Amino acid sequence: MSDFVLKTSNLSYQYPKGSRLSFQDLLLSDQQHTLVLGDSGSGKSTLLNLIAGFSSPTSGEVIINGQNLYSLSGSELDKFRAQHLGFIFQEAHLLRNLTVSENIKLAQSLAGLSVDADAVKTLLEKLQLGGFENRKPNELSRGQVQRVAIARALINKPSLLVADEPTAALDDKNTFLVVELLKELAKDQGSTLLISTHDKRLKDEFTNNYILAAQ
Ligand code: ADP
Ligand code: MG
Repeated sequence: MSDFVLKTSNLSYQYPKGSRLSFQDLLLSDQQHTLVLGDSGSGKSTLLNLIAGFSSPTSGEVIINGQNLYSLSGSELDKFRAQHLGFIFQEAHLLRNLTVSENIKLAQSLAGLSVDADAVKTLLEKLQLGGFENRKPNELSRGQVQRVAIARALINKPSLLVADEPTAALDDKNTFLVVELLKELAKDQGSTLLISTHDKRLKDEFTNNYILAAQ
């Protein structure tokens, strides 16, 4: 077992018609909480998408729990991601024809795990979503939708939880609430947390900051 959960080296990404983005190396130890801070356009989403294996880097490596992400085939990568990683997007991307609990159970199935209705219920209650199990996403507030997305990312107890501007669509009160909740749940489950934001006020909530320079 390696002593770090995530290691990136020499990562860069070239958009077909854009400039090349290069990233300082990241090394996250087990259960560490890290904030990626950068203005809009500084490369937060690009970096987090590379870390989660949603896009392949032009150069460099991503190693999660000792596994080089980009040496995996497409289907191996999907399975590895489902088992080791939780990802929270700026917009929740829930499946709108499924209920709250069906959205979360789907994440269990996709990871090849059996559906654990009790675990889903317990997690939803922790996120103050008890009683909302059978609602569809369009019957929820923005804050509730984002908490469902958090539940979906956490249900398989990922060792690495990656959240790309999870508070961007929320008001101030919900912003701090969601950040505290993410930290608390990550701690409970023993997940390493990597969260990005442009909101400099969140800097003091984290001891480990990774600042993205304007590119
Ligand atoms: P952030 O998430 O910090 O706002 P992004 O990672 O989305 O930043 O973008 C970083 C840079 O890459 C920006 O200059 C942006 O314009 C550029 N970029 C993002 N997506 C694309 C794309 N699909 N094609 C070309 N350039 C892109
Ligand atoms: Mg972004």
